[in-house]
Amino acid sequence: MAPACSACGLTFERAQGYFVGAIYVNYAVTTVIVIGGYFLLWAFTELSTAAQLALWLPVVVVFPIWFFRYSRSFWLALEYAVNPEP
Ligand SMILES: [Zn+2]
Repeated sequence: MAPACSACGLTFERAQGYFVGAIYVNYAVTTVIVIGGYFLLWAFTELSTAAQLALWLPVVVVFPIWFFRYSRSFWLALEYAVNPEP
């Protein structure tokens, strides 16, 4: 990841460990999707628990990897909304 934005100079990693918050965002979004998805399918389908596990386990592994950069972007945008110093 670049240290700063090439267009406006915004520093991305503002302090050591700054993006730990992005890990929380990633975890929260993954949890909401998987737990919510599980209960939705549990309520509206006849899938067994084993079938649900087979469906959601790959999501738990792959989704956070794919969503990693978006959670960082969200974390940075949240910080920028509160503290817009470059
Ligand atoms: Zn920029």
